[in-house]
Amino acid sequence: MSTEPIIFLEQVFKVYGVGEAQVAALKGVDVAIQPGEFVAIMGPSGSGKSTLMNIIGCLDRPSAGRYLLAGEDVSRLNRAQLADVRNRKLGFIFQSFNLLRRATAINNVVLPLLYDRKSKLSPKARTQAAHAALAAVGLADRAKHFPNQLSGGQQQRVAIARALITNPAVVLADEPTGNLDTQSSEDIMALLHELHALGRTIVMVTHEHDIAAHAQRTILVRDGLIAETAGRLPLSRVSPPAAVPVAVGD
Ligand code: ADP
Ligand code: MG
Repeated sequence: MSTEPIIFLEQVFKVYGVGEAQVAALKGVDVAIQPGEFVAIMGPSGSGKSTLMNIIGCLDRPSAGRYLLAGEDVSRLNRAQLADVRNRKLGFIFQSFNLLRRATAINNVVLPLLYDRKSKLSPKARTQAAHAALAAVGLADRAKHFPNQLSGGQQQRVAIARALITNPAVVLADEPTGNLDTQSSEDIMALLHELHALGRTIVMVTHEHDIAAHAQRTILVRDGLIAETAGRLPLSRVSPPAAVPVAVGD
């Protein structure tokens, strides 16, 4: 097993607001996730799960501490640089699917390729990639459908195809089954298992124990701290990545 984590957070703090109104949402969090791991993040409402996912997903920066994503220090990147990292390395799945209502399934799936300004793919190659991604989630025959013509489970599968089209190493899922019935939830979890079997790293927030049970390991967040980590992989002695860029200013 590789000993170099793909996600490595060291003493990460996140403080919102200023002065008297300050809220410390994360209070010194250490997280190490190995390439190919499937991890669930659980914890009570307000414990800091979304804050942690936003930082892992490069949607927000830590107030203090260090975050290495695939060996790259992303703790102090600016907004444009973070957007670039997101596009290159991460795929997102949200509870509310976040599809564009006025775009067909195929046009939703192709979007991340359009955002990638460095992409050298021709329009035809992009469309082909989007069709392949839709086929991979079992929706080849729904390419021209709009989100409101699809069931919740189908919409989430479109969202997964969109998350995968850039071939990200890490897939982040925030309550991916939160708006779905039991059968659709099982379908989505089966898809996440497939992605995991293909070697992708999956980090999923959920408050449902039967959904978390699909993961190899559960990280429990409580009051801005990691309260517990439990699962099938013993990772008690994870070493930090070898190639550590020099962090300026801490
Ligand atoms: P969870 O996802 O576990 O419910 P959050 O990460 O959303 O928890 O929130 C953790 C704490 O940080 C809560 O006390 C919340 O009120 C606060 N918080 C979250 N986002 C903000 C924000 N943008 N501004 C101020 N406080 C926030
Ligand atoms: Mg939340």
